[in-house]
Amino acid sequence: MKPLYIPQIRQATGSKLEITVNDAIEGLETLTPVRGEMSIIHHLSYLEVNATVETIATLVCHRCLKHYNHRLQVDTQELIWLEDPAPDPEERSDSQQGDLSETLSPQGYFDPLNWLYEQLSLATPLQQICGDACEGVEPTLAQTTPVLDSRWSELAALKQQLNGGNEEMN
Ligand SMILES: [Zn+2]
Repeated sequence: MKPLYIPQIRQATGSKLEITVNDAIEGLETLTPVRGEMSIIHHLSYLEVNATVETIATLVCHRCLKHYNHRLQVDTQELIWLEDPAPDPEERSDSQQGDLSETLSPQGYFDPLNWLYEQLSLATPLQQICGDACEGVEPTLAQTTPVLDSRWSELAALKQQLNGGNEEMN
């Protein structure tokens, strides 16, 4: 499935494109292709994207590190504003970091697979546990926190140095 040229969506019947999804999505570890339906409607100032898709993702259990299968389902709608980017790059980054999820140029492209990738990534559980019967790993393997601790202590040392420097200047 190729990226869609946005002016062409406007020219479609009812300014609406309906897509049957049956694709493997790059970067997404799945057992089955992503399957379902998707529609994109051009409303002049924004695109309305609806999708109902599902796939079987292969995830790695955070507790025992085994691979396991997880059904991912997405039934979602997103509005994507059609707006040319502001010429001033600073202004642009400010407005794009606002609550608008996404903005595309009216003369640009909408990439359905990339969009689905984002939606399915969002639907992936943060806490990935293979099941109730998960036995976990050896406690020694699970303790990875010291790495983080040493980084914090380095930061603390740096902070102390900086504070010390300030005091000398005063
Ligand atoms: Zn597990």
